[in-house]
Amino acid sequence: MLSGVNRTGRWAIVLLVAGLASDVLAYSTTVKLSPWNASRPKRRMTTFIVLHTTEGPMKGSLEKVYRNGEAHYFIDQAGHVTVIMDRDRVATHAGRSLWNGLYDLDQYSVGVEVVGYYNRPITPAQVNALRGVIADLKRIYRVPDERILTHSMVAYGAPNRWHARSHRGRKRCGMLFARIPVRRQLGLKAEPAFDPDVRAGRVMNADPQLAGVLYGSGRNQNIGVSSAPVVGVVAGEGVIGPGCSAWDLARDAYNQASTTYVFPSGERKRGNEIRNWKSIPAGTRVILSPDAPENMTEGLYEVGEKPEAATVIAGREALTPTTIYCFPDGTTKGGHQLTPAEQLHLPTGTRILAGYVPGGAITRDRSAFNVCGGRWNLSTTLYRFPDGQFHAGNRVNEKRIPIGTQVFYCR
Ligand SMILES: [Zn+2]
Repeated sequence: MLSGVNRTGRWAIVLLVAGLASDVLAYSTTVKLSPWNASRPKRRMTTFIVLHTTEGPMKGSLEKVYRNGEAHYFIDQAGHVTVIMDRDRVATHAGRSLWNGLYDLDQYSVGVEVVGYYNRPITPAQVNALRGVIADLKRIYRVPDERILTHSMVAYGAPNRWHARSHRGRKRCGMLFARIPVRRQLGLKAEPAFDPDVRAGRVMNADPQLAGVLYGSGRNQNIGVSSAPVVGVVAGEGVIGPGCSAWDLARDAYNQASTTYVFPSGERKRGNEIRNWKSIPAGTRVILSPDAPENMTEGLYEVGEKPEAATVIAGREALTPTTIYCFPDGTTKGGHQLTPAEQLHLPTGTRILAGYVPGGAITRDRSAFNVCGGRWNLSTTLYRFPDGQFHAGNRVNEKRIPIGTQVFYCR
């Protein structure tokens, strides 16, 4: 077929039109715009497409993505496409993200959510629909194939107890779309050869297994397609033990209310209730919820029952201006402003924001939009209300943010 295209220009036109027509007709759509759609700003540029897997079953995932405006397109297992957001508006699908020196991929990308799991095949109907959606988006935005990325490629985590630096591996989401046989089925002919931000030293690689699939020999493995229904086991669940930490199992959801820890004694705690991460016994079971919102408070930590050193919590970035300490007495400091005593003994209840820019306070003349522009309602933007509580940007009502609220946003 390709040689026919090359031999005569006339054939090329006929095949191109047929190709376009079949892509356009290859999938059915329903428009179900998120309540957030109208208030999200339009992107100034669209240079990437980011592919996701829901890591949970259809029903709860669609509801969650719709409720939070977390994707532009949602593809169920029958290959039906639901339009969640106008494709030109910002959807909060990538969270804390970085690609080739560019932060906050939500500002530059269309997000496509596919019902399935990062390490399992999707259905033939999903392959067809995703192929069609990608072809349409490529035509509209002129995105080259090597800029069609997976969420796991662009997500990065702030320094935490397990990683002294900003790191890849925060998500494995969409990993299967890095596999070359899968990409060929989706009509993609090129892929990124390496992680440009690991290579440039902006982030470290915290998940060698993931990197092996994204850029190593693992990406040649064909995992095929499957019409069989995918059984709803959430990827990453398991038991804490030697060489397997809470982070290994839960990633950025380790300290979230949506993650449940079942101790060997039978006692259960939610991630946000655990104060002493060192004392979690081996044999503790970790249960993840597929309904967890997209990394709402990634990089927000709290000092537990005992005072702790800044570097234990925020690693090598602990003493930089982008690590921010909110003390229980209401005062706030950047890492570079900590006294030597504070560096060693952060008091119990101190909240730490790793990898954030302090935007200052909301006043009568300074709205959230004045502080951080279109980022004001992103899930990664955090508001510290005068009562000390933190709220994510996608959960605040701009008209009801109290005067004196502090705003923090990701780079
Ligand atoms: Zn994702």
